[in-house]
Formats: sequence, structure tokens, C-alpha cells
Amino acid sequence: MSDLEAFRAEARAWLDENAPDGVRGMKADELNGVWGGKRCEFEHPDQKVWLERMGAKGWTAPTWPAEYGGGGLSKEEAKVLSQEMKALDLPPALIGFGLTMIGPTLLRFGNEDQKQQHLPKIIRGEIRWCQGYSEPGAGSDLASLQTKAERDGDEFIINGTKVWTSYADQADWIFALVRNDNSGIKQEGITFILIDMDDPGVKVSPILLISGKSPFCETHFTDVRVPVENVIHEIGAGWTVAKALLGHERTMIADTFGSSSGGTRKPGERSFLSTLAVERVGERDGKISDPVIRDDVARMEMETKAFGLTTQRTADAAKAGHQPGPESSMFKLYGTELNKTRMELMVRILGPDALGWEGDGFDEFALDTTRDWLRSRGNSIEGGTSEVQLNVIAKRVLGLPA
Ligand SMILES: Cc1cc2nc3c(=O)[nH]c(=O)nc-3n(C[C@H](O)[C@H](O)[C@H](O)COP(=O)(O)OP(=O)(O)OC[C@H]3O[C@@H](n4cnc5c(N)ncnc54)[C@H](O)[C@@H]3O)c2cc1C
Repeated sequence: MSDLEAFRAEARAWLDENAPDGVRGMKADELNGVWGGKRCEFEHPDQKVWLERMGAKGWTAPTWPAEYGGGGLSKEEAKVLSQEMKALDLPPALIGFGLTMIGPTLLRFGNEDQKQQHLPKIIRGEIRWCQGYSEPGAGSDLASLQTKAERDGDEFIINGTKVWTSYADQADWIFALVRNDNSGIKQEGITFILIDMDDPGVKVSPILLISGKSPFCETHFTDVRVPVENVIHEIGAGWTVAKALLGHERTMIADTFGSSSGGTRKPGERSFLSTLAVERVGERDGKISDPVIRDDVARMEMETKAFGLTTQRTADAAKAGHQPGPESSMFKLYGTELNKTRMELMVRILGPDALGWEGDGFDEFALDTTRDWLRSRGNSIEGGTSEVQLNVIAKRVLGLPA
């Protein structure tokens, strides 16, 4: 037996023994996955047990070094682990910006103290992170940000406002871009800093969105004192860190939205979309009865499958610690547009049921789908708009003149 096959047998046995019944078959996406943190609420008590066991083994971050509490697995072993989790129908024990964004950034740019302080807590799901990039007046043009960081001895005093901070109301820490110097070009004088959300000068106010499912917030900083040791990389060199983190964010968004729920799970099994279409639209001769819906479901499944296979390589590489390049913009663009099309198709399949907002006349699935459809409109804005991704692809992938 090869080492990898031995690892497969060992991983399967461990997973089978340690996965509590309550998490088996559970779907974990952005809305019902476990994000960890001090305010974490578990839908099912077994999710807590699952997080504790996986976190202790380091398998929430399989390829991160064991010295920080990670699994220390090779890229190939991590892939095997993920395959075995799929085979046993197990959800990830933990999701969130700690694992997908700030963790990989700390591994690359953080100093030893910063890694020791934060990585083990991320892996065990003890802290939850949010992202303080966008500001009123600095979204696509992120380098125009104006949140001010003034040096005072060993501290920075931070003042300003961030906007669209997803889940700021539940986060323990925020990784933020602040301006420490206005004298050069706008990409200079930006610092990437970690801020404890418990500081009394941090205030969070929610923003309501049309979907009614809004985790978005404005985050205000008033004279927030942050130790200089919380700066990642170098003071004034935050733009480099910011861009690297955006690569991770775009890969994560593409991965999350591009490959969700459309494809066939196992050979011979009906896919989720096709089952839904049969249930809601009807079946004739073993096929979805409406030929237009049938055609669209088939196209969506092929596109999802093709996209999933393409992104799998990048996702595997990212899990193995490789830095995403400008191709993350291609995946982000395609994956989010794919999710929007998928949600539109689901709404068409539901027909008049998708007109419901609340009340007894509609089932829970239809109500959720309507809100998810509205939420999906933001997919091509968050993490950089589709137009901005097209600019990146033109310039950095195709080498077209700016
Ligand atoms: C669901 C969601 C979650 C988010 N979560 C977070 C978060 O957690 N943390 C955070 O910091 N931010 C977050 N954001 C903010 C997000 O990153 C910004 O909304 C995004 O970068 C766009 O910025 P903007 O809204 O200021 O739009 P603008 O930059 O004002 O853009 C307006 C329009 O102009 C177009 N445009 C702008 N510049 C160009 C250009 N150069 N070429 C072509 N077209 C252009 C844009 O594509 C867009 O259509 C989130 C946004 C959404 C929708």
C-alpha cells in the first residue's frame, strides 16, 4: 500500500469514528456553516463537537504547518482528506475569512509572533474575522481609502469608517487597511493592520439589504488605539498585502458560489437542480417535462461541472499554500455570474412560489430561494465587481494596454 493509500485508510477511519451523527449529510455553506468565534451559535450541538475534534487535529486547516496547530498535510494528503469527507458526506467543520483570507495572508506576511498569536485560534475556530477594506468613496478604487492611522509612540490611533463589512457584528477581529501617510501616490502610505473589535472605539451598525438576509455593516473607528505590533508586513506597505489577500478572497468566492448545488453528486443520481425541476415542473418519459427548463438545467449542470473541475486545481493549490495569481479574477468573474444564473433558474423553476416573502402560503424552501436569489445579486459586486475583474483580466492575464 502506498503512503497515500495508507493515509486514505487512516483518514477514513478517523473521520468515521469522530464525525458525530448530527453532522453527517449536513450541508454547510455561507449561511449555515460554522464560522467560529466568541459569539458563535451552533445550529446543532454536534457541530460544536465536530469543530472541536477537527480543530484539535488541525484538519480545519489541513495544509497549514503543525507548529501553528494546522494539519501539516501535503497537498495530495489534503486532497485525499477532502475526498474522504465527501465520500462520508461530512461538511467542513469550520468556514470563514480566518481560514480563507487572513490565515493564508499571515502565513505569508506575518511575523512569528503574529502567526503564533492568531493561527492556532483560527484553526480551532476560537476567533472570527471580518474584512475592513471598503469605505464610502473607496470600493473599486480601494486605494482612495481615507481611514486615518496616526502614530503615537508604540500605537496607532485609528479614525474613519468602513462600509459593507460582512459579519462585523459577529466578528472578534478585523483586518483593515488604513492610511498612515498621504504624501505619495495613493497606493503608498497604506498599512494593513489587525484590530480587536472589542475596543470601545469600534462601533458597528447594520445595513439592511433587499434580501432581508443582511450581515452587512458599517464599522466606525473613533480614536481606536492599536499597537504597532499589529501591523502586518511593513508600515506603509499594506497595498502589497491587500492585493495578495484579494487573490485569496476571489478564489474563495469563486469556489463558494461557482460550484454550489448544481452538479450531480454521484454517478446515476439525479442532481439537486434536476430533482427540484422534476418535483416542481413535472416529469414526462423520465425527463423534466418542460423542454426549456430541461435544456437550461442540463446547460447549468455542464457549466457547473466544467467550472468545478477547472477551479479544483486552483483550490487545491491554494489549500497547499500556493499564492493565487490573476487567474483568480477569471474564476471570480465566471463563478459569480454562474451562481446568479443558477439562482435565476431556480426562481423560474419555482414559478409563482418564488413570489413569496413570508407567510403560510409558501414553503420554507421557496422563501429561502427567493431571498438567496436576491442575495446572489451581490455576488458580482463583493470582492471586486465583474467590471473590475474584466479590467484585471485584460491587463494582467491578456497583457492588453491599460
Ligand atoms: C455582498 C457584499 C459583501 C461585501 N463584503 C465586504 C466586506 O466584508 N468587506 C469589505 O471591505 N467590503 C465588502 N464589500 C464591498 C465590495 O468590495 C465593494 O462593494 C466593491 O468593491 C465595489 O465597490 P463600490 O460598492 O464602492 O462600487 P464602485 O466602485 O462605486 O462601482 C460602481 C460601479 O462602477 C463600476 N466601476 C468602478 N470602477 C470601474 C473601472 N475602473 N472600470 C469599469 N467599471 C468600474 C463598478 O464595476 C460598478 O458597477 C461587499 C460588497 C457586497 C455587495
